[in-house]
Amino acid sequence: MPLAAFLGTAGHEVIYRIHKERRLDICKMWLGEAFEDAFHKAIQKEPDRVPTPKVGYENITDQFQSEMPFYVELLKNYQAHPQNKEFHSTIHEQHFVLKIDNPAEGSPPYLICGTIDQAGYYSDGRFVLRDIKFRDNAFKYSRRELDLNIQLTTYATALKYGLPSCDTCKPYYQDGSIDPTVQGESSGTMTKKLVYNGPCPACTKKIGTPEWPLIVPERCEMVWMYDLEPRRKDEFDQYVMRRDLPKIKNAYQRSINPEWAGGAKAGDPKGECFLRTYRPLSRIQAFMDDILRVCDQIRQGVFYRLPSKNCNWCSQFDICQGGIAADEAIQKEQHAAQYGSSDPFGGI
Ligand code: SF4
Ligand SMILES: [Zn+2]
Repeated sequence: MPLAAFLGTAGHEVIYRIHKERRLDICKMWLGEAFEDAFHKAIQKEPDRVPTPKVGYENITDQFQSEMPFYVELLKNYQAHPQNKEFHSTIHEQHFVLKIDNPAEGSPPYLICGTIDQAGYYSDGRFVLRDIKFRDNAFKYSRRELDLNIQLTTYATALKYGLPSCDTCKPYYQDGSIDPTVQGESSGTMTKKLVYNGPCPACTKKIGTPEWPLIVPERCEMVWMYDLEPRRKDEFDQYVMRRDLPKIKNAYQRSINPEWAGGAKAGDPKGECFLRTYRPLSRIQAFMDDILRVCDQIRQGVFYRLPSKNCNWCSQFDICQGGIAADEAIQKEQHAAQYGSSDPFGGI
């Protein structure tokens, strides 16, 4: 597993602490120590996933030492951002279970699991869901991708209808294997009996109620951490790429950056950082119908594998790749049974 994934996990942990401990005064020394601690914890927590250094580094320590200052810089700018100073988070790195009844008679409900990075209130009283991303800008979402983002839709729904969960009370299959239709977990088979007894007393205590916020967030924000990289020069780029418009001759269209004339100082964050999108109830309903259609197909044994850039962060990667191999083996068998050793195109 690339080391960058562990660096991102460490970054999440430090952000969690910034909000939880209300550490809004900048202290680079604290940030550096917190980041290093979180990094070691992240590696220990996943002994099965061996971190691999990227090309050009001999080992993970070299890469960590070289990249740590960059992450600390991002975290420092995160801490300093006025929008973060006025954000009072009430939910941090919270696991949830979203239980949705299946309209088909006799079918068990869907249980969708996940972890919400943050939700909380701005000083004007707005309740906002936030998801933190430590990803290269090449992966940045377009407006359309953001508006259709399944992760944010699911999390927004969970804030209204979900239940808190933890490692103790998350759903499991009776023989100990895990439900493959549940996001973010490893896979078992679909024929086992699913058991879910949450939320446990610890979850209830953490949230303060067996049910939780029960409100739809006013808006969702993707916090794009790489936008917080400090500028090296004093002005904005003259043009901005228009990723929301179709490409022409395989290149993004561009337009004059309205902020170009005003300029910006070196050290200012490179980008806007807060990518906003909205999930009113009506939209949630429409999007969830789509998500449930996919869940239903998975339950029937039809898995859609659409390898893309998202595979880099997918917790199902190993299972998915294993599934591809298994599918290929089945296809090969069927092919052999159908055509024997003869050429399917008529050769002898
Ligand atoms: S590994 Fe890629 S294709 Fe497979 S489930 Fe994950 S994102 Fe989809
Ligand atoms: Zn629990």
